[in-house]
Amino acid sequence: MKRILISGGAGFIGSHLCERLLRDGNDVICIDNYFTGHKSNIRHLLNHPNFEVIRHDIIYPYTAQVEEIYNLACPASPIYYQHDPIKTTQTSVIGAMNMLAIARCNRARILQASTSEVYGDPLVHPQPEEYWGHVNPLGLRSCYDEGKRCAESLFMSYFREYGIPVKIIRIFNTYGPNMDINDGRVVSNFIVQALRGEQITIYGDGEQTRSFQYIDDFIEGMVRMMERTPDDFTGPVNIGNPHEFTINELASIVLELTGSKSKIIHMPLPSDDPQQRNPDISLARKMLDGWEPTVQLREGLLKTIAYFENILSRGGVRH
Ligand code: NAD
Ligand code: UDP
Repeated sequence: MKRILISGGAGFIGSHLCERLLRDGNDVICIDNYFTGHKSNIRHLLNHPNFEVIRHDIIYPYTAQVEEIYNLACPASPIYYQHDPIKTTQTSVIGAMNMLAIARCNRARILQASTSEVYGDPLVHPQPEEYWGHVNPLGLRSCYDEGKRCAESLFMSYFREYGIPVKIIRIFNTYGPNMDINDGRVVSNFIVQALRGEQITIYGDGEQTRSFQYIDDFIEGMVRMMERTPDDFTGPVNIGNPHEFTINELASIVLELTGSKSKIIHMPLPSDDPQQRNPDISLARKMLDGWEPTVQLREGLLKTIAYFENILSRGGVRH
């Protein structure tokens, strides 16, 4: 049994990770400020003897005796990370430093939830880890993109200066149950709009692409990265599903799977919205024991639709 700290453990990804690590027999401490996360995501775990939850904002120092740290705390949806951009950068940078300080005290392994956004609006397809990216450092997304890039830099500095076993993963668009109904990201927006019979809001012409990864595939990849022995592989490593879809294709698949009669409307494309995104996962396949996604988009969407149908049948209240 390992003692493991998860920052952002009440969020979409964090709640699945809490479940997985408890199932594997670990002792889990979840810290979260509930900015975008919810107690309802982890309520079913509260009676677990090996689970603790602490309301804490990672921009302030924290201390714990742990063997592993997953640093997931950060709003991930553009509407939330742009809501208070200074706070987003503080969470990404100062928060990362506070988590690294805990790792240094304990000589703990620490994993950083970085993002495909470090590639910005990429000029190379698919995106391999060696690509340095094409980020607007001044734009509306920069609070998040540059915050995450700075966090990667800090992680590498702690590795070089102090020999801390760091792990950097670059997460590509991940979806599934426990996403917030108002999260604002495309998969949850389209499903909720379709189920409510509301208009499906496609931003721009809908020809921009994303590669959608189901949460179970992602959790497996992330845990393999953390557990990998020997612990000399820092990454960064892309964790994503290489099947690329346009946003128009996603909208029609959601309409088909929900049987919805919702109409599609087009809205302005947000600034700096990446035109194409697709992970090169050769490194993950090689270094993570042949890991690759197994859940196809339609299969993952059906599970996510079932989740939102359940929430909506209770008037949007989770549990
Ligand atoms: P989420 O918004 O559901 O979860 C983030 C969690 O962090 C929430 O519980 C939130 O309350 C918490 N949080 C935010 N700021 C905090 C702070 N200052 N102190 C403590 N807790 C704080 O998002 P998610 O999709 O679960 O993303 C988790 C991580 O993965 C994020 O770091 C995100 O950048 C990264 N990521 C996610 C995706 C994706 O597609 N889901 C893609 C790339 C990167
Ligand atoms: N998008 C859209 N309609 C929505 C929400 C998002 O067309 O209701 C588009 C958005 O402009 C982007 C893509 O879907 O091109 C993915 O957006 P999301 O916010 O999910 O993630 P990110 O842009 O961070 O990849």
